[in-house]
Amino acid sequence: MIVSKFGGTSLKDEQAMRRCAEIVKVQGSKVVVLSATSGTTNQIKSLITLAKSDVVTDQIYEVLENIKLKHRLIATDIGGGEYLLGKLNLILDDLEQILQDYLMASAPAKSAMDDELYSFGERISIILFKEVLTQIDLRVKIVDARDFIKTQKSYSQVEPNLDLIAELTPQAIMPHLETFDVIITQGFIGSDIHGNTTTLGRGGSDYSASLIAEALEASEVQIWTDVPGVFTTDPRICPNAKSIKEINIKEVAELANFGAKVLHPSTLSPAMRNGMKIFVASSVDPSAGGTHITTQSEENSFVRALAKRDDQKILTLSSVKMVGNYGFLERIFSILAKYEVSVDLVTTSETSVALTLDGSANGCGGEYEINPEMLGELEEFCTVRVSDNLSLIAIIGNNLTFKQGLGSEIFQSLESFKLRFICHGASQYNFCFLVDKNEAQEIIQVLHQQFIEIPTLEASL
Ligand code: ASP
Ligand code: MG
Repeated sequence: MIVSKFGGTSLKDEQAMRRCAEIVKVQGSKVVVLSATSGTTNQIKSLITLAKSDVVTDQIYEVLENIKLKHRLIATDIGGGEYLLGKLNLILDDLEQILQDYLMASAPAKSAMDDELYSFGERISIILFKEVLTQIDLRVKIVDARDFIKTQKSYSQVEPNLDLIAELTPQAIMPHLETFDVIITQGFIGSDIHGNTTTLGRGGSDYSASLIAEALEASEVQIWTDVPGVFTTDPRICPNAKSIKEINIKEVAELANFGAKVLHPSTLSPAMRNGMKIFVASSVDPSAGGTHITTQSEENSFVRALAKRDDQKILTLSSVKMVGNYGFLERIFSILAKYEVSVDLVTTSETSVALTLDGSANGCGGEYEINPEMLGELEEFCTVRVSDNLSLIAIIGNNLTFKQGLGSEIFQSLESFKLRFICHGASQYNFCFLVDKNEAQEIIQVLHQQFIEIPTLEASL
């Protein structure tokens, strides 16, 4: 069985939806998971922000009106007539009603309702897409994801309850497989045990799809997006970057961790558990192929891709008392844990420990401020130095630990740059280091040519 997920840009208008419907037909997808139409979740986010501000202005109604107009336009283009418009208007009225309730609610009650508002993006797009599928003669059943994507808490970014999902998803979907050609459901949304709507965090539809695929023991989950797969590096940095045909899931996990944006990182965990395949491709150009992510491991050693992550900080902690002593690392890490700081890379010497702290892992996308209280506690027993304006470069590939001459090749090609904080060995899938932020882009270009473009060219000769 194939579970296919279509992202927001894939559903941005009537034509885009028709392309996705064709893909469903050609691929024979039995279960389809949908995002909100492009930009809608961001618009809902604006509604929430505006509704929470001290003075509520008419701007909130403008945003609401834009959401309505956009979807009515798609419905008209689809040509579903009064029936479709009627269905759409019902849910848009619901959205307006919940927004009114939200505006009247107290601040804590508002936060508890955020996910209810967020859920409308996916609940609206599914109505439109059902009609498009029906028009190409598919028998379609909508099942509500909140009936089976069960999560632990009732706010955003919650943990899915895997046992309940495994039990409820087949119950909700399997009985319809005979009568219907395609079962469609909303990505991103779920509910807690009390039935309150929850969400899996921004970009979470990918994760919904792989959770559903896991629960149904599907053979493959397909992620249809606006780029033809996972790229060797960011094409905005290297125009010669290419989509990767096949890649091991552990390498993709490294890529996602180091900042590649194609997949929500949690999407991979169900496939790691059960071995199903993941296919990432572009709904705009399905003929361009895509990336097959497999759990099979390869023997060969090679570099596959490069990633860059900006806004890195190094925290260097030194103390002469560390020599031949014990418990130093424990003390450092317990303080970091107390302040809920996620550590990324670690290197040690006789009297120092250096760590990188990453903004995105610590709950903020960009520049990350280190908590001064935490620094104070660390300074009680060691000297602390913070360096910033750094970027992390990750070379990702297979069996890198066994790639002969890898280190010398990297260092030679980057002879004219300063490399710091070299980390290699903990994972056989990456080799990474830090560089000055303003040299990072050029370094990616040099490495891409050396490790990806030249070997590809040589292999084709
Ligand atoms: N609509 C949600 C978002 O924009 C979920 C998703 O698209 O995956 O974050
Ligand atoms: Mg999305």
